[in-house]
Amino acid sequence: MLRRITGFHADDAGEWVAELSCLHGQHIRHRPPFQNRPWVTTEAGRAEHVETELDCPLCDRAEIPGGLEVARTAGPFDQDTLPAALRRNHVVADGRWGCLRVIEGAIGFAMETTPPVEVRLAAGERQPIPPGVPHHLTVDGPVVLAVDFLVRDA
Ligand SMILES: [Zn+2]
Repeated sequence: MLRRITGFHADDAGEWVAELSCLHGQHIRHRPPFQNRPWVTTEAGRAEHVETELDCPLCDRAEIPGGLEVARTAGPFDQDTLPAALRRNHVVADGRWGCLRVIEGAIGFAMETTPPVEVRLAAGERQPIPPGVPHHLTVDGPVVLAVDFLVRDA
């Protein structure tokens, strides 16, 4: 899915990494003839690309970015106390990730990534949830779950 570039930094090897709104980083290399992005080598070129969009396959695979910390936990909820808003399509706010943790029982989970996720999560299983991606829970029996919200530099 497309994500907004929020800035750039150089990694330890001096390669440029685009920082994305989803908190993933993506290497942007200028290695002609196969990777032709001369703009990344100049300060002005990078500045021009802030706020443009880049495809982020890590978000479609719901791979949680490294280095995040839990800022807040919602729940635990059970099948009766699970808020109605979580049973309808909703999104995690920009700048954070959700991580659904099933503590007891099981629950249905669906999310509009490409390809879409549709799974039944059992006790002990976790499901990372990228920011801004519609998803919902389907209660089909007893369950206890919590949702962690993770940010960079909690
Ligand atoms: Zn991403």
